[in-house]
Amino acid sequence: MNIHEYQAKELLAKFGVPVPAGYAAMTVDEAVDAAKKLPGPLYVVKAQIHAGGRGKGKFKELGPDAKGGVRLAKTLDEVRAAAADMLGNTLVTVQTGEHGKQVNRLYVTDGVDIAKEFYLALLVNRATGRISMVASTEGGMDIETVAHDTPEKIHAIDVDPATGFMPHHGRAVAAALELKGDLAKQAANVASKLYDAFLGTDAEQIEINPLAVTEASGDSGAKLMVLDAKVGFDGNAMFRHKDLLALRDETEEDPAELEASKYDLAYIKLDGDIGCMVNGAGLAMATMDIIKLNGMFPANFLDVGGGANKEKVTAAFKIILSDPAVKGILVNIFGGIMRCDIIAEGIVAAAKEVNLSVPLVVRLEGTNVQQGKDILANSGLAIVPANDLGDAAQKIVAEVKKAA
Ligand code: ADP
Ligand code: MG
Repeated sequence: MNIHEYQAKELLAKFGVPVPAGYAAMTVDEAVDAAKKLPGPLYVVKAQIHAGGRGKGKFKELGPDAKGGVRLAKTLDEVRAAAADMLGNTLVTVQTGEHGKQVNRLYVTDGVDIAKEFYLALLVNRATGRISMVASTEGGMDIETVAHDTPEKIHAIDVDPATGFMPHHGRAVAAALELKGDLAKQAANVASKLYDAFLGTDAEQIEINPLAVTEASGDSGAKLMVLDAKVGFDGNAMFRHKDLLALRDETEEDPAELEASKYDLAYIKLDGDIGCMVNGAGLAMATMDIIKLNGMFPANFLDVGGGANKEKVTAAFKIILSDPAVKGILVNIFGGIMRCDIIAEGIVAAAKEVNLSVPLVVRLEGTNVQQGKDILANSGLAIVPANDLGDAAQKIVAEVKKAA
């Protein structure tokens, strides 16, 4: 589960991470009011969407010469103009895809005088099974480009869960950022607070880009500040964080995936033509693999789970069919605890209810399989039965090609 930048910053601030002051705004007037609460003289108006690259992004409605989704403003009038430009319009960035994302929320934040921009991220390193801090002096730009062109400028520091975050981890982060003296101490402190936030929220990812060094001014020295934060949580841990669940913005989520989550279905949209309905993630993976082996691609990953019943199967059918790319459906279900005859009844009822218009191949195996097959055969529907996984994949590919 991902959250907006302003929510991420409010959360990180609670863990003691230094962020500039700022306020969220849903309307132009709110944006101006937010700026009034800030010290000025520089304000930054930032589009809040669940995608990065906003600064270099373009608004579909504004033409190619208009500024992007992160704008500096020197007066309240400039704040008003920037907010009016962004709200309701569609921001296209390298991360949104060409359709872009509508901007419904803004963040108005204190403008910071930047001396240098760094990159610092925390994520789970699946190879070592540890939380890894990824630091680079090359901040403010696309980290994938840095990784590609100058991989030596990216440093990963793993934290052993048995010791937790130790002072040497902080020094390693500071060294990776080539910081000395007071700024090195600040970097160690930021890293340690981010680690606390990562653990404390069951985060999956905390990406700070940029982590900025401010220009020293008067008698106040240079400061490290988090200027952008992308935070995502482990969805499976959200039951422990009811307060974080409240930060969910459903308008940012894929409508089909959202609908699926209401029925406790694990659904992920993919790019192929064949809709899959399967129980169990392992079986879903195998089903996708064998579709590929037979020369086509799955249109989705859909796991109806162990307790598949008629309601779930119907919801799953509707979700699969709401995808116009689907040219055929392969149902591959193993009746373990769930009996095949119950599943077959669910499939027949669902297929009738949704007026199935694409080929449907069903492979059932397990408890009461013969009764299940009989129900499908006697349904009067054009359901193609299959005997095993290979047979099912060959049949759905053949049916889809025949229908084309
Ligand atoms: P995105 O990564 O989506 O483009 P950022 O929040 O990183 O959005 O903003 C892009 C750039 O805008 C930053 O790299 C930084 O140079 C500048 N910026 C962002 N926030 C501030 C701020 N509060 N003060 C000054 N400059 C900022
Ligand atoms: Mg950024």
